[in-house]
Amino acid sequence: MKHVIRTHPKSEVTVTACCLNDACGWMLVPTSDLEAADKEMMAHTGKEGQGHRTFARTFEDVALVSRQELNKGQQEVPPLPGRPDEEPQPERAAH
Ligand SMILES: [Zn+2]
Repeated sequence: MKHVIRTHPKSEVTVTACCLNDACGWMLVPTSDLEAADKEMMAHTGKEGQGHRTFARTFEDVALVSRQELNKGQQEVPPLPGRPDEEPQPERAAH
């Protein structure tokens, strides 16, 4: 039986990032708006300068494994399991 894995269609992809400049400590507030996240990081480089061009990024989603050939009668997309309460947002570094 072959399987495929993909992002659960009801899941959001969340991105977090932190600046890799040693002394900085800037962190992106986790967001599912990937475009806004990109802009935040570019804005950080624009504000802090060329030493702040690298970021450690983490993308998080819910993965779903499905059989490649659909079985009739099988629910194609199981519901997204309940999520824990919102995690506290990481503190932004003071500048
Ligand atoms: Zn930085």
